[in-house]
Amino acid sequence: METTITRTQSVKVRNHCDILVVGAGPAGIGAAVTAARAGARVTLIENGGKPGGMWTLGLLSPFFDNKNHDGLNRELREALQARNAWGGLWDISFDPVQMTLVLNEMIREAKIDLLLYTTGCEPILEDNCVKGVFIQNKSGTGAILADVTIDCTGDGDIAARAGAPFRIGRDRDGVFQPMTMMFKIGGVRDEYPTDRILDWYTLLEQRVPDKEKFLRDVPFNFPALIKLPRSGEALVQWTHVRYRNGSDGEELSCAAQEGFRQVENAMEYFKLIRDFLGDVYLMELPAVIGVRETRRITGEYIVTDDDVRNGTVFPDNICTVKFGVDIHEPDQAGQTNIGHNGFHIPFRSLVPLGVENLLTAGRCISGSYMAHAAYRVTGDCLKMGEGAGYGACEAIKRKLSVREFARRNSSETTL
Ligand SMILES: Cc1cc2nc3c(=O)[nH]c(=O)nc-3n(C[C@H](O)[C@H](O)[C@H](O)COP(=O)(O)OP(=O)(O)OC[C@H]3O[C@@H](n4cnc5c(N)ncnc54)[C@H](O)[C@@H]3O)c2cc1C
Repeated sequence: METTITRTQSVKVRNHCDILVVGAGPAGIGAAVTAARAGARVTLIENGGKPGGMWTLGLLSPFFDNKNHDGLNRELREALQARNAWGGLWDISFDPVQMTLVLNEMIREAKIDLLLYTTGCEPILEDNCVKGVFIQNKSGTGAILADVTIDCTGDGDIAARAGAPFRIGRDRDGVFQPMTMMFKIGGVRDEYPTDRILDWYTLLEQRVPDKEKFLRDVPFNFPALIKLPRSGEALVQWTHVRYRNGSDGEELSCAAQEGFRQVENAMEYFKLIRDFLGDVYLMELPAVIGVRETRRITGEYIVTDDDVRNGTVFPDNICTVKFGVDIHEPDQAGQTNIGHNGFHIPFRSLVPLGVENLLTAGRCISGSYMAHAAYRVTGDCLKMGEGAGYGACEAIKRKLSVREFARRNSSETTL
């Protein structure tokens, strides 16, 4: 059997926009909304059936680093508060259903051309210059042309396929942090304290008959019960799927199946603490398994471990990260947390090496394994997206490439 097939095909150009954002997670929302509000014609394409990335498709809370930023972080918080959909754990958790509706409204108001159920497959390249992206959806294959493309896929799909260099996982062996299948439960006793994420687990550990089997069934011993604003509802971050690559289609599918299996196991264990937690039931599974890390696209600047430790200040800072380094260990059941006093993300770390007309934002930007483990949280990804959207607009307005814009700003004042 042939192992490869060559395909040549003419495809229809759907549209030509100023800025094309690929991926509507926190970073993509930040980039698209900021650019559209600045007057750019923005197309936003999203693989899933709703905007929000891990916030909605992944069933994630809390919204870390949200209160450390103004701008869209504040807007989203206030919009969710107005819908009684904010609160829960540490007063930074939210109802993911309402989050979808808030984002949909924000996108509509900003007049963004949103295309759901659409995958950005390959960059359209002229030499090393990204002219847009080939897309795939129910209409078949198409093309979208853009002056600047912003890769907010989380995995850096477009940047990597355009030939940008990238790094993966731990420096010593390239192993990734585990993935997690989040899940939502109902029936949690109202008396269970909102800020105690682990009390239930401590009790459960005492009650399980076979501790080794317990850690095989659900192999993570620092889980979180994340109470949501509505009575009785919580998200659970407990499953751990190790040694899988979230940017590999086959492995991602296997990981999701393993995640579902662990959720079933977890639900069985909850029965042992029914008297303490409540008669909880499975309410919802996410549309995607949560992938903590894949490619980190190497850019004009790499945010280093020393930058995290020393709080290095950059003139082109677009996001001050306050959230601590949070590493879910790839080969142990636990988690490593390292505090710091805050560090900057310079705009240059969003500009991939070797490829023109392209920016990244979100968890795939240019940084070390350790730095990534802090800036990957959603409040920071949203803020980075805002920086990317703003920078793309300014570069177009000043008739500069995004790289030239970044270089000029790295030696001038803050953006
Ligand atoms: C299990 C887990 C728990 C976490 N817990 C927290 C937490 O409690 N609080 C917190 O703030 N952060 C948390 N994080 C981190 C945070 O969720 C992510 O790092 C963050 O969502 C990254 O934002 P992003 O926009 O870069 O990517 P994502 O949120 O992953 O969004 C990327 C979007 O792009 C779309 N996409 C991908 N590829 C393509 C393509 N080729 N074409 C079109 N669309 C595409 C995806 O469908 C998705 O909607 C957690 C992460 C995981 C995995």
